[in-house]
Amino acid sequence: MKCPKCNMSWLKVIESRHTTAEAISRRRKCMMCGHHFATAEIVVPKESIAWVKSDRRNRSSFAVDPKLLAHLVSESHASDSERSKK
Ligand SMILES: [Zn+2]
Repeated sequence: MKCPKCNMSWLKVIESRHTTAEAISRRRKCMMCGHHFATAEIVVPKESIAWVKSDRRNRSSFAVDPKLLAHLVSESHASDSERSKK
């Protein structure tokens, strides 16, 4: 994740709040430019997780299906523009 303003990834979580059983919201601060923004973290279905061999010691790291992430991002941006229409 990168700062939406300056595109740097040095971010600090300043507050976490449980919203529902499946989701948490966080307020973050960019340590480079000081921009404040909010993120949401959700439980993803097991089927959408892919394990990828990541280094020479054969350790695996996981990644959520990029298609699912792209879908979630476009959904949240869609509701953004819906709200600004009203
Ligand atoms: Zn920034």
